[in-house]
Amino acid sequence: MKVLVINAGSSSLKYQFFESETGAVLAKGGAERIGLDDSLITHTRNGDEKVVLETDLPDHKEAMEQVLSLLTSPNYGVIQSMMEIDAVGHRVVHGGEKFSASALITPSVKAAIRVCFDLAPLHNPPNMTGIEACEAAMPGVPQVAVFDTAFHQSMPAAAYMYALPYEMYDEYRVRRYGFHGTSHRFVAQRCAELMDKPFDSLRIITCHLGNGSSIAAVDHGVCIDTSMGLTPLAGVCMGTRCGDIDPAIVTFLMQKEGLDHKGIDSLMNKKSGVLGVSGVSSDFRDLEEAANNGNKRARLALDMFVYHCKKYVGSYSAAMGGVDALVFTAGIGENNYLVRESIASGLGYMGLQLDEQKNHGVRGVEKDLSVDGSQAKIFVIPTNEELAIARETEIVVRSAMAR
Ligand code: AMP
Repeated sequence: MKVLVINAGSSSLKYQFFESETGAVLAKGGAERIGLDDSLITHTRNGDEKVVLETDLPDHKEAMEQVLSLLTSPNYGVIQSMMEIDAVGHRVVHGGEKFSASALITPSVKAAIRVCFDLAPLHNPPNMTGIEACEAAMPGVPQVAVFDTAFHQSMPAAAYMYALPYEMYDEYRVRRYGFHGTSHRFVAQRCAELMDKPFDSLRIITCHLGNGSSIAAVDHGVCIDTSMGLTPLAGVCMGTRCGDIDPAIVTFLMQKEGLDHKGIDSLMNKKSGVLGVSGVSSDFRDLEEAANNGNKRARLALDMFVYHCKKYVGSYSAAMGGVDALVFTAGIGENNYLVRESIASGLGYMGLQLDEQKNHGVRGVEKDLSVDGSQAKIFVIPTNEELAIARETEIVVRSAMAR
């Protein structure tokens, strides 16, 4: 099946066009600065050089139409006509409590996504714009929403509830949702394949460590807990996000710094994390360089990140009564062997033994990093959220066709 995967942001629209059975990427790219000056589209046909087209993109619909004309163009295209696109899969950040699986987009699904606008005001509205732009540009082509939150909907109430007045949940659906679910599921399932064991027989801790980081406990095939919460601000400290803090700090700093709700939100989301602690950068490569040159705050930021991750790994092992595999993925998890080594060190008591030689220098490839014969396994598994969305889309469309 030929599946177009769309990830729409407020002024961008990224795409990857897959042959979903083989996982081959036929073309990929993105529209940038939609609705702004100097907008452009980048496009790479498999095996070719990237092309950059400066073009007017007043809105997402126009961007989608221009992407479609690239995909079908004689010079840069990979298909003769739009009719060859079998389905479109959309990344949708928040599915609230309504979606524990991907969904074929219908008017009622769109209404449910709109209900979640409040929960993800920066993400869900542009995701919806992307859906509507595709509906307008490709009438009749089935569209599927794949939610970042869906995989975590299996969490038990004890894990997802906050100890606030119950009315806050009843009234506003304030609870833990978790994010990066498509990635956590993708690498956890791949981990089971690599171990040659049924997915539903394993206790797996997945560490999606990138600019945004989250950790999940996948117990016998279902997620039972994850570090992000109502929003992607919770959990381990991140590039610019503070992660878990004492909630009383919020009102304390609002008062001390004279901040309103937007001010404190920006402080916690954009000025905190390893950037805020180090004063150097949100990028772990810059942090490591600074730390190696003696910058104590950069070293502290790295130490804090590792410590937070280690605490989550320990707590999820306790939650699952042990662990069969630990998986590292995303920018830091896939590329930074020192971070992996620091998080995994001293976990032998849990059966997790990292082979430092196997781990040394490993970047962006799938690999078993555990000591031969160790009880539990440690893997690095590159994530591929777009391919996971393409595969989900195919499953949803095929099952809708079979009905
Ligand atoms: P992500 O949000 O998944 O793109 O991850 C971004 C983080 O991954 C940044 O902190 C980078 O330092 C780190 N990262 C990405 N690529 C590399 C690489 N090739 N080597 C080391 N770190 C990397």
